[in-house]
Amino acid sequence: MSYIKPVILNVDDDAGARRAKTRILRLAGYEVREAGCGCDALAQVQRYLPDLVLLDVKLPDIDGLEVCRRIKEDDASASVLVLQTSASQNGSTDKVRALDGGADNYLVAPVEPDELVANVKALLRLGRVQGELRDSEERFRQMAENIADVFWIFSPHEPTLLYVSPAYETVWGRSCYELDNHFMSWLDSVHPADRRRVRTAFARLAQDQLYEQEFRVVRPDGSIRWIRDRVFPVRNESGVFYRAARISQDISPRKDAEQLLHQADHRKDEFLATLAHELRNPLGPMRSAVELLRMTEGDDTPELQVDAREILGRQIDHLVRLVDDLLDVARISQGKLTLKREFVELKAFVAAALETAQPFLESRRHALKLQLPEGEVWVYGDAMRLSQMISNLLHNAGKYTDRGGEVALRARVRGRRLHIAVEDNGIGISAQQLQRIFDLFMQAERCPDRAPEGLGVGLSLVKKLVELHGGRIDAFSAGPGRGSRFTLELPIEPGRPAPAAHAAPREHAPGELRILLVDDSIDAIKMLKLLLQTLGYEIETAHDGPAALKAALSFRPHVVLLDIGLPGMDGYEVARALRRVPELNRTLLVALTGYGQERDRERARAAGFAHHLIKPLNLEELRGVLDAFADDMARTP
Ligand code: ADP
Repeated sequence: MSYIKPVILNVDDDAGARRAKTRILRLAGYEVREAGCGCDALAQVQRYLPDLVLLDVKLPDIDGLEVCRRIKEDDASASVLVLQTSASQNGSTDKVRALDGGADNYLVAPVEPDELVANVKALLRLGRVQGELRDSEERFRQMAENIADVFWIFSPHEPTLLYVSPAYETVWGRSCYELDNHFMSWLDSVHPADRRRVRTAFARLAQDQLYEQEFRVVRPDGSIRWIRDRVFPVRNESGVFYRAARISQDISPRKDAEQLLHQADHRKDEFLATLAHELRNPLGPMRSAVELLRMTEGDDTPELQVDAREILGRQIDHLVRLVDDLLDVARISQGKLTLKREFVELKAFVAAALETAQPFLESRRHALKLQLPEGEVWVYGDAMRLSQMISNLLHNAGKYTDRGGEVALRARVRGRRLHIAVEDNGIGISAQQLQRIFDLFMQAERCPDRAPEGLGVGLSLVKKLVELHGGRIDAFSAGPGRGSRFTLELPIEPGRPAPAAHAAPREHAPGELRILLVDDSIDAIKMLKLLLQTLGYEIETAHDGPAALKAALSFRPHVVLLDIGLPGMDGYEVARALRRVPELNRTLLVALTGYGQERDRERARAAGFAHHLIKPLNLEELRGVLDAFADDMARTP
């Protein structure tokens, strides 16, 4: 083991006495340096901080007692040990003065060699212990003052504070001085609901020797922190619990996370219950429909079979929608949903959304108001997703509004943003629900008479989709019973950037085309009329075959858009009748049906239709047909 010799500075103006002491100490194994006066002694102390100064009182320049005082006064040298010596007869007075001045011990000369060595040894040992103590205290202080937890030491019997770390001021938001005056004042900040429990547990500490509590602290600014508070008994050699160490840890972040987790867990449970319910709902009618098909197999009861098939179709659509939404949510949360972007015109995706949502709105007898800006508005986005967002909002508006309500869709352009609002006069949304309306699985409390419908994923999906498009969504409601409004904001592209390859360049104003729309669905036709009028076409409508023929004769349409499934006289018959009218020989007949089989197209062609479009109507496709026809018209006047 390497051993560094302690360094002793031997200060005496009497060269003989000094040399004698140096010899003795070197023989005892110490490194010894010498000084003959006070100034030299102080300079050497400053330079290399000896372990011990053997200091004679009588010095020619500065008094030895003064030299000692200056060594001890300076922080840098205060831990240097001083062994004062004096040949004075006036021993005891000098000794008192020396010790008062900070000397660590005092010897009266002449000193016996053994006595000198024994004293130096004892002092150096003391110095080492003091040094270690200082180090350990320093380590404790560094630890206690640099951790975020509040660290306390107190005596448990009649609680008196011995130490508290400065973190108390951060955690409790109060000054440590308050604790000096009244230790238990920390309890005043404990939340009233927790205080009694904490006080009781703390009071039983000495007896139970055990204390662990979680409680809230209310800080002077009103903010609340959650604390985990623990006390550990400190025992003396006889095993008696005489001190307590306490750690108060701020666990607010953990508590917040726990609460969020708890809420999420609760929502997940609710979601699973709703999911089960929603998935089971369509299964009942589906099973009945299958049963019906089985029972009527071979019977001549086509209406029943049609009904059963329709029920099956509707319920399967519903299930598919649920599953699609779930898949979308999963894709979004895994970051796997990508947009198929292209330039899409507002009216095109609104029309597609209406196609999807309208049957539902009609089934609930809602009136739909539509207000779109004139001219084209182009968005660079995913056509399918854009219409999904709108139809989702329309669907909700229809769902959360009592039958016979009003649903409005309004769009307008402000600067380079497109604003779309979907508004209803339905059940409305409370302020509290509004805050979380776009959260996944969030569903408002329902009145008992209103069955849950949906999974609570729709709005969160719309929000994610609109954000993927660089836009935003907001919800407004004046409160329960006062309707709701959802607004979408999307960036728009100024002008149509690149005409789609299939769209023929249009040389004619749409107004030059007169279009007769024939459909027995009053709402469907109203919507389409509005859309086409907004685009600038001149529109007439009819709801059945005879009315269509009559209107055709007076209105002389360039184009007839004809639904095939009309009551009484079906679309094929109407087409054939129209074809027989010479004045209408240049009129373009366009069939609109739900059936896209080659057989159906063939039948349509045979009846005199030039085009066969499939429901839901794709507005872009219709416009392609209309533009091409307008071009033809211009070429062959
Ligand atoms: P779902 O309709 O499947 O429950 P959504 O995410 O579409 O899920 O909607 C979440 C919740 O927001 C609904 O459960 C409903 O409480 C509320 N909400 C949505 N749209 C409306 C609306 N137009 N009027 C009133 N409440 C609505």
